[in-house]
Amino acid sequence: MAKVEFKNIKKSFGEVDVVKHFDFTVNDGEFVVFLGPSGCGKSTTLRMLAGLESITSGDIYVGDKLINKVDAKDRDLAMVFQSYALYPHMTVYENIAFALKLKGMAKKDIDTEVRKAAKMLELEPLLDRKPKELSGGQRQRVAMGRAMVRTPKVFLFDEPLSNLDAKLRGVMREEIKQLHRELKTTTIYVTHDQIEAMTLADRIVILKDGYVAQVGTPTDVFQRPANKFVAQFIGSPSMNMLEAKLISQDQAFYIQLGENLIPLPERFKALASKNLALHLGVRPTDIHLRAQHIDHERVFPFSVKIKDKELLGASILLKTEIAGQPLTVETQAAEVNTDELKLYLDLDSIHLFDALSENSLAS
Ligand code: ADP
Ligand code: MG
Repeated sequence: MAKVEFKNIKKSFGEVDVVKHFDFTVNDGEFVVFLGPSGCGKSTTLRMLAGLESITSGDIYVGDKLINKVDAKDRDLAMVFQSYALYPHMTVYENIAFALKLKGMAKKDIDTEVRKAAKMLELEPLLDRKPKELSGGQRQRVAMGRAMVRTPKVFLFDEPLSNLDAKLRGVMREEIKQLHRELKTTTIYVTHDQIEAMTLADRIVILKDGYVAQVGTPTDVFQRPANKFVAQFIGSPSMNMLEAKLISQDQAFYIQLGENLIPLPERFKALASKNLALHLGVRPTDIHLRAQHIDHERVFPFSVKIKDKELLGASILLKTEIAGQPLTVETQAAEVNTDELKLYLDLDSIHLFDALSENSLAS
């Protein structure tokens, strides 16, 4: 096991800078997820660590060892890809044993290692099968088994579950998490799927266009997004984002949203300045059909017409508008039976972003 340090890493392909600045340390034993939309540089960053891509500038350390110039095969890392890349003519057993055989390990020891991995991954009954006789989930488990027996310093995963259906992805997520609990191997996991990131990570590194948009625990990035991008990337359905303005009137500050004047919550008072253009962020679950106590410090009531509904099962999405801007509300399905509603915006859970920098205005 080892920590992994990326020191001021940059990567260009010709004229194009795809990783602009990456400075980050993965702690020993930590499970870190690199999360971001397609093309933001996740795989490139991981591949530089794995030795599959050259580093344009900067240093990468595994443990205390600078690995920039170390051969990929000598870096002591094991990578699992989206395509499992199993050897089709070999059995499950032979696939898992392959790397150990190459190392020249004794047959008896190989057998011990393969069976230990197979037991953890519940592959014991399948050891004699060929990859084509396995389901997608089972193949992915074999790929993990192959990585495990090498007892690497670090596990690298690049979108390992993307080829699986939604239900199986859920099962495999659980298994990967369980495996990390048992092995405690430092892990870097790349995905564009925020649910995978939220459920697996100790910390998430959110990437955008080759930059780090935010680093934090799943709770951090969900509850305290540092900018508008993170706010809308994390959480499903996405956070509502409304163009608004900060204004002062009669010695008090308000968030002006069309005709609505929402009192500026106390926690934002420090930033109060006149006529600041804002984006008001509110999650669909933070707008309610009922207010426990109508305390105007805590909730803002407003009336809407429902334009559309989308039943999700236990909950329902209501599509409406405020100040001419689209607004999605998620509430319990049973509660809604009319098209004209009074809603309550929970002021304790709103987010404010500077319209120009798009950074959070929360201190
Ligand atoms: P992600 O894994 O986040 O989807 P990648 O790291 O694969 O993104 O790619 C980041 C950017 O670098 C993309 O715009 C991609 O087209 C570009 N890129 C990746 N590999 C190469 C390459 N070998 N040559 C040129 N451009 C590349
Ligand atoms: Mg990728």
